[in-house]
Amino acid sequence: MLHGYTPPHRYLPYLSWTQITELPDRANTVIILAAGATEQHGPHLPCSVDTAISSGVIGHALARLPATVPAFALPPITYGKSEEHLHFPGTMTLTGTTLLSTVTEIGDSVYRSGFRKLLIVNGHGGQPQVMEMAARELRLRYGDFVIIPTSVWKMPSGLGAFTSEKEKKLSMHAGHGETALMLALAPDTVRMEHAVANFPDEFPIKLLSQDGRPACAWTTRDFGPSGVIGDPCGATAEQGQVILDSLSSHWAQAIEEVHQLQWAPRAESTWGRSHQNGHIEQFPHP
Ligand SMILES: [Zn+2]
Repeated sequence: MLHGYTPPHRYLPYLSWTQITELPDRANTVIILAAGATEQHGPHLPCSVDTAISSGVIGHALARLPATVPAFALPPITYGKSEEHLHFPGTMTLTGTTLLSTVTEIGDSVYRSGFRKLLIVNGHGGQPQVMEMAARELRLRYGDFVIIPTSVWKMPSGLGAFTSEKEKKLSMHAGHGETALMLALAPDTVRMEHAVANFPDEFPIKLLSQDGRPACAWTTRDFGPSGVIGDPCGATAEQGQVILDSLSSHWAQAIEEVHQLQWAPRAESTWGRSHQNGHIEQFPHP
């Protein structure tokens, strides 16, 4: 079936439209959209990493959630904006504008279904800006819609206990954290014998990059042929399980807090963006 890592009773598309209509508190039910990608992750990891990690962590979080907290996962976004990896086979990318429309229109549909809380949990480093833009657009459209765009790695993960200083500083893709987590979530897809370390040179202008990461636009092949940006070699399944437990237990807590959240803007909203023509218009109070 389609629910993947999500417990079936927490997978929204398994409900009928009448069951959704009958949900007791749609306004405070947390709808979660995991945003992944299909893109190369080096020779040792599958192209599904970002989707597996975002939907896998959220699935484990939903499994931990008390039955009293209403929350459902949508199908994850499995195609993202992966243009920085398009020189590598297996990368299936959307443009930023297509992804922006996709997330915004999913948000429209969530709102139209009577829900008022949407958590967007992104697993791909190349697209947080798009999630933030979609969330802001939805906020302009709907004054009573709470949309939270965030990263699956935002919660305490415990990863820092396992990694070198260099890894902490410069790892960006297919490094220790993603590899360990994949060893816990989908071990059959990981080929550790092909793992290689590869780091970018520190960016030469300190004022523009205090942490040494590249301050200019880049594509992955700028850093070498492997597609790896980091050091995955020491990752283990045990570490991955520690990271998965930490992320998913904190996410369960965060989902419960979003359920309880009553976020009242101080100024009453009198402005909204017309859905039809995109112009800012003054709307009457409901
Ligand atoms: Zn990734």
